[in-house]
Amino acid sequence: GFSNLEAIPLDPHYALKEAFADDPSAKKVILGSGIYRDGNSEPWVLPSIEERKAEKEVDEHKSSARYEYLPISGYAPFVTVARDLLFGRYGAKADHFVSLQTISGTGANSLGAQFLSKSLRPSAVWLSNPSWVNHSNIWGLVGVKVKYYPYWDAQKKTLDFDSMVKKLETETVSGDVILLHACAHNPTGVDPTKEQWAKIADICESRGLFPFFDSAYQGFASGDLDEDAWALRHFVSRGTLELVAAQSFSKNMGLYGERVGALHLLTSSPEAAAKAKGHLCQLQRGQISQPPRRGAHLATAILTNQVLFQKWLIDLHEMSSRIKSMRQALYEELVSLGTPGKWEHIISQIGMFSYTGLSSVQVETIQSESHVYILKSGRISVPGCEFSFEGVNAANVKHVAKGIDTAVRR
Ligand code: PMP
Repeated sequence: GFSNLEAIPLDPHYALKEAFADDPSAKKVILGSGIYRDGNSEPWVLPSIEERKAEKEVDEHKSSARYEYLPISGYAPFVTVARDLLFGRYGAKADHFVSLQTISGTGANSLGAQFLSKSLRPSAVWLSNPSWVNHSNIWGLVGVKVKYYPYWDAQKKTLDFDSMVKKLETETVSGDVILLHACAHNPTGVDPTKEQWAKIADICESRGLFPFFDSAYQGFASGDLDEDAWALRHFVSRGTLELVAAQSFSKNMGLYGERVGALHLLTSSPEAAAKAKGHLCQLQRGQISQPPRRGAHLATAILTNQVLFQKWLIDLHEMSSRIKSMRQALYEELVSLGTPGKWEHIISQIGMFSYTGLSSVQVETIQSESHVYILKSGRISVPGCEFSFEGVNAANVKHVAKGIDTAVRR
C-alpha cells in the first residue's frame, strides 16, 4: 500500500510558505517565490492585460466557440507570435521549427525533457550549479541522469566561468543536453557576458552538446526584449546547432496562474521538424490533449496589437524599475548599517532574484529572530518581497536589512 512509499519532503518553496503562514508575528516578511508584487506588496495585474480583458467586444468573449478545444499544438497565432518574440528574425525559418503551446514554462521544460530523453537518449543533462529547483526534478522524472556544471563562485559572488568551461570541455559526452537560462539566471541573477555566451556556443559545437534554453524572464533582465533573447539568437545565428527553448509568460505578462507558455524546437531541416512534430504532439496528447485557451488569447492580443504591445513595454519597464529600486534600497540599508561584507552584488545581479550569499545558518537566524523568510540557499525574490522603498511598507526594507545585519554579525 501507499504506507510503504518513500517520504518526499515538500518543495523548499512550499515548505517556506507553510512556515511563514504559521508565524503569528506582525513583522513577518517572505522573500521566497519569483512573483512580482507592487509597492504595496499586492499582486499586480498588468494594465495592458487589464485593458485587453476590459474589451468586451473581443471575439473570444462573444463567440459561442469560446470554450471549444484548441488543437493539440495549441492556439496557432499564439505559438507563432511567441516564437517570433523569442527568436526575432530567425523565427522566419518557420518550417525548421516545431512550436507547441504548453502549460507555461514548467510544461515546456517537461515536454522538452520527455522528448529529448526519448529522441536523443542523452547520457546526462547538464544543469548549472545551482539552477531552478524544478530542473533536476523534471529531468529526474524522465529518467535522465542530472549532472552539474559549476556556475556560482560563492567567494567572489560572480559567475565561475573558468570552472564551467573546464567541466564542460572535459566531462561532457556528445549528445548530452545542456540547460541554459536564456537570461536573468534563477537563482543567482548572474548571466554570462556576450563573449562568454559565444564560448559556450563553441563548446556546444565542439562537444556535440544539445542546448536547451529556458526563457522565463524575457524583458526582466535588461528591460529590452531583444537584448534578453540575445544569447539564444546568437546560438541560432551560427546555423550549426539544433536547440530547444522553453518559454514562459508567467512573469513578463503577470499571467502566473493562466499557465501560458510554449516549447520551440529548432531543427536542421523541414523534414526533421515534421517528424519531431509528430512525436511532440503524441507526448502532448498523452499528457494534456490540448492546452488551455484563455491565457493564450490574452498573450496573443498583447503581442499582435501595436497599442497594447506598447503598453506592455511600459508595464515591463515599471516592473523592472521597481525591482531595481528595491535592490538599491536594500543595498543602501545594509551599507548604512555597516553590515560586514560586500553587498554590491545585490545591485549588480539582474532579474527577480538576488543570491545574497547568506549561509543556511544565517538564513535560519534571520527567520527565527526577525521573522524574515528566505530560502536556505540565500536566494531572495526581490519584487516578491513584502518590503518597499516607498509608501506604507517603507519600514520593511529596514526590517529586512536589520535581520540580515544581525545574522551576519553573529
Ligand atoms: N524556468 C525558470 C528558470 C523559472 O524560474 C520558472 C519560474 N519560477 C519557470 C521556468 C517556470 O515557470 P512557469 O511554469 O510559471 O512558467
